Amino acid sequence: LTGVGAAPAPAADRTPLYLDAKAPIADRVADLLHRMTLREKVGQMDQEALVTVQGTCNWSGGALNDACLHSVLVDNAAGSILSGGGMPPAVNTAKDWADMTNAIQRYAITNSRLHIPILYGIDAVHGHNNVLGATMFPQQIGMGSTWDPALETSVEQSTQRAVAATGINWAFGPVTEIARDQRWGRYYEAFSEDPLLTGTMAASAVKGLQDGSSGSKVAASVKHFAGYSQPLNGHDRVPADYSPRYLQDTILPAYKQAIGAGALSVMADSGAVNGVPVTSSHYLLTDVLRGKYHFDGVVVSDWSDVRNLQTAYHIAADYPEAIAKAVNAGVDMAMEPTNATDFTNSALAAVQRGLISHQRIDQAVSRILTMKFRLGLFEHPYVDSSKADGIVNGADLPLARQAATESSVLLRNQNNVLPFGSGVHKIVVTGANADNIDNQMGGWTIGWQGVPSGTNVGGTTVLAGLREEAPAGTSIDYQADSGAAVSDLKGADAAVVVVGDTPGAEGPNDHPDPELAPDQQAEVAALQATGKPVVVVVVADRPLVLGSAANTAGLLMAWLPGTEGGHAVADILYGKANPSGRLSVSWPKAIGNEPEFYTQLPGTNGGTDSGYSPLFAFGAGLSYTAWQIGAPTPDRTSVGTHGSLTVSVPVANNGSMAGDEVVPLYVSQPVSQVLTPAKWLVGFTRVHLDAGAHTTVRITVPLSLLAHTEGDVNGDGGQVVEPGGYTLLAGDATTGTSFTVN
Ligand code: BGC
Repeated sequence: LTGVGAAPAPAADRTPLYLDAKAPIADRVADLLHRMTLREKVGQMDQEALVTVQGTCNWSGGALNDACLHSVLVDNAAGSILSGGGMPPAVNTAKDWADMTNAIQRYAITNSRLHIPILYGIDAVHGHNNVLGATMFPQQIGMGSTWDPALETSVEQSTQRAVAATGINWAFGPVTEIARDQRWGRYYEAFSEDPLLTGTMAASAVKGLQDGSSGSKVAASVKHFAGYSQPLNGHDRVPADYSPRYLQDTILPAYKQAIGAGALSVMADSGAVNGVPVTSSHYLLTDVLRGKYHFDGVVVSDWSDVRNLQTAYHIAADYPEAIAKAVNAGVDMAMEPTNATDFTNSALAAVQRGLISHQRIDQAVSRILTMKFRLGLFEHPYVDSSKADGIVNGADLPLARQAATESSVLLRNQNNVLPFGSGVHKIVVTGANADNIDNQMGGWTIGWQGVPSGTNVGGTTVLAGLREEAPAGTSIDYQADSGAAVSDLKGADAAVVVVGDTPGAEGPNDHPDPELAPDQQAEVAALQATGKPVVVVVVADRPLVLGSAANTAGLLMAWLPGTEGGHAVADILYGKANPSGRLSVSWPKAIGNEPEFYTQLPGTNGGTDSGYSPLFAFGAGLSYTAWQIGAPTPDRTSVGTHGSLTVSVPVANNGSMAGDEVVPLYVSQPVSQVLTPAKWLVGFTRVHLDAGAHTTVRITVPLSLLAHTEGDVNGDGGQVVEPGGYTLLAGDATTGTSFTVN
């Protein structure tokens, strides 16, 4: 990207060290810190939002209200601005965004005494999703079902190019939570129920978002550290209680992997874990994050959460005390969008009262400045807004189509109803989500709760895709009315009924009843009663309990596939693409079985569904070709507790269509000192094979993945790899190959 001018030097000192691009970052930070007043320092720790001050900072006619900017960027000396879910008024296109961020950046640099650029943060969680014209990729739950880390990296590289083109340098993602409770509003923002799949995809996302090879620089923010996803009653931002073992073995490892990929920032969990608000948890934000994971970047709190320590959690008597609790726990920057004017004063008061040390302030500010230098903001604070639309609009559509295709999971294909063959001449298309691009995008798309009504977000619906890609001689009859669809089907060859849900985000999207709406179930049942083949396509942000819609001939889970979803579904239904998505989560049969996950520990209740008894298991997914995954062979059958094992797995495509197969590798432990699940994932790969071809894939298994937290109910034994026998299981196999740990 073209930097349009560097920050001007302060008048009194023409060449301060911190403005010397060639000086080492640590020296530049120390020099700048040394020049700052305490007010300027604590100001850097303040992140404010434009959406909440839109009444005064309102962007109109290419400018923002001066008095408002002055109060945020000069009086409060805020170090960062964010746009929470949704576009500020009158900001739509990529060029609008770039013009606005340039204006804010210019104001900060010109009017602050030391000319420090700001960090501008945004939620770019499935592409640059707040910008009209941007390509929307599948939401993370769909990306998880690709089991394709390289694809995730490519998607995030594309996101990074778009984000950077609009002058934004910080993207709040990837979501690194474990998805195990279908009731939770943010379920779809996570990749998977499995720690290794989640961590691998999140690490790949970090690499893509922070890949500076195209010249642009964006920081990732691994969020929400840690343990946000299993609030006790399934509602967003309700406290979670985890046993020491669950926290160590299930919740934390994915964050560790993502942080290990070099994330420049981490966002704290808004919730409370084991009775402690994470924003005030020294254990999580310092002992684990810094001490164990050696994280050296910036910790930002989530929305209003420093204030929340006082107003919601009641563990601080006033705001300065709340700030002190957060900062002393390890928060470097406070996302305080709704308190526009008093973070800086209150933080100063906390220091003056002796609640926060000067050293801790210097440490936090050093981290923030380091991030700014790492991102090159002092050298290239602005972007060329005339290029933004060209970079962002309609970018990487083939990649979006590939991602949507790989993420779609074929779950039923009775009598090979799919792909539609030459005998299918007339297809009736119906269902609530057949022709609804907004529902196909999901939450965090232009608006926080999804595309605002009246906004044209572009993209191809399933109906449009099926029409565009229909083979010669196949006609598509769209019936918006379900009764008309049923009577039309009587004279047609098949029905495609696109069911699902409406978009949402966070608390408003909580699903106490994660079930397909009764009227949609009834529509599917009525279509099925015709005796004609019915293919259900689910466009939804979670595996909805399907009830009477569960037994159709065809069932394809498309998740929230984004801009290219319609083309991807058409490619699969017409057989131009071989389905290769595999469930990254378990699909429950019944409401009430949540949380349902494949690593459920053994119990003694033999009652219905008391064990792991999903409708479709973790890893499920059909193909149009016949795959055979053979027995795994480890490079040795006796290992120590450290290092890794290389496992070879033969894979053959015995069918008649080329395709991709996901090869999961699990381990089980026949006898263990603490409870272990029937199997758990220790590696995976994805392989492409032509019809009739075969190969042997090699999967590296770090032996640390065999560890469990040992000891009594308080987990006092620490994480240990137990000596003894283990079994490697590849694919769906229930028998495998043994090896021993000595
Ligand atoms: C969410 C975060 C998000 C932030 C900024 C919060 O409500 O929990 O995930 O990054 O808002 O939009």
